[in-house]
Amino acid sequence: MDMDYAEGVLSGVPRAIARVISWVENEDSRARPCMEKIHGHTGKAYLVGITGSPGSGKSTLTDKLTRHLRAKGFTVGIIAVDPTSPFTGGAILGDRVRMTELAQDPGVFIRSMATRGFLGGLTRCTGEVIKVLDAAGKDVIIIETVGVGQDEVEIMRIADTTCLVLVPGLGDAIQSMKSGVMEIADVFVINKCDRPAADQLFMEVTNRVEMDAQLRKPSWLPRVIRTIAVDNVGVDALVDAIEAHRDHLKQTGSLKEKRRTRTKQEILQMIHNELFELIRRRLSTDGRMDAMVEAILKGEQNPYAIMDELTSRWIRLTERGSGESTTGSGTLPFV
Ligand code: GDP
Repeated sequence: MDMDYAEGVLSGVPRAIARVISWVENEDSRARPCMEKIHGHTGKAYLVGITGSPGSGKSTLTDKLTRHLRAKGFTVGIIAVDPTSPFTGGAILGDRVRMTELAQDPGVFIRSMATRGFLGGLTRCTGEVIKVLDAAGKDVIIIETVGVGQDEVEIMRIADTTCLVLVPGLGDAIQSMKSGVMEIADVFVINKCDRPAADQLFMEVTNRVEMDAQLRKPSWLPRVIRTIAVDNVGVDALVDAIEAHRDHLKQTGSLKEKRRTRTKQEILQMIHNELFELIRRRLSTDGRMDAMVEAILKGEQNPYAIMDELTSRWIRLTERGSGESTTGSGTLPFV
């Protein structure tokens, strides 16, 4: 018999969680009713973002961080949105063995996501996957990304606490500054502190954080943590920093504010997707889209006027509050 997948997710059944996530990723129509059912059970998980260049040690840190959190009694969900992550399978054997160990813990659910083929929908998709793990009762959800593209920065904005992993010698501090990740980091992790240049990087980052604090006077002063992830050194300090940031967010009301912003973003994103799809489909029928393009190319119309006509027609329709068809009687033949 087919199981009730929403119920399965809510009871934390791994097979159900995996299946619903796949539906979300593939935009399968079965995702929607499930997401609707589980929605009321979301909003409890704490979201930790871990970002940094490939090879900086994000996965090693995620692995160690997860073990620390498990030891404290928390359940953990891991989402690897990183094509180079050992979680996504691009690892040497040693890493795979390490990850397998973690994957066998029933209190941990690991999911890797493809970063291609989402046409900018990666952030939305990650948001939905987070909700599934949240509804499944995971206390902490770690989202691992390579901190390079705009997508990654957007995903990191979803996180409650964002950790930026930097290592000596990669010049990635400068890279991160360029991509804007530096601005959204709540915790800086200087990893590979077994390397000699780590002290210098630590000083540089600390100075930058302090300079930035003088300029912007942020309510949270980002912490700079030194770790040797492979040897499990400094990971307890990282856990402390994350918890301190969480406490800060709670005390200042920022956590509620973050949730509010996230909900708003989510609604806007859904409206955007639904309406766009609706209009796109409507315009694609009867060659109306082609006629529109032709008219523009011939110089008979311009896209701005068409846009105005389209939107005002939709506004008129919604003001009438009717579900009447938009086909037929527009002043333009396209709408
Ligand atoms: P990711 O690509 O950012 O996820 O990085 P990984 O976690 O896969 O780590 C990349 C490599 O760096 C692996 O071979 C790790 O064993 C190694 N590594 C991770 N942390 C440290 C560290 O603190 N010191 C040293 N020397 N190597 C590390």
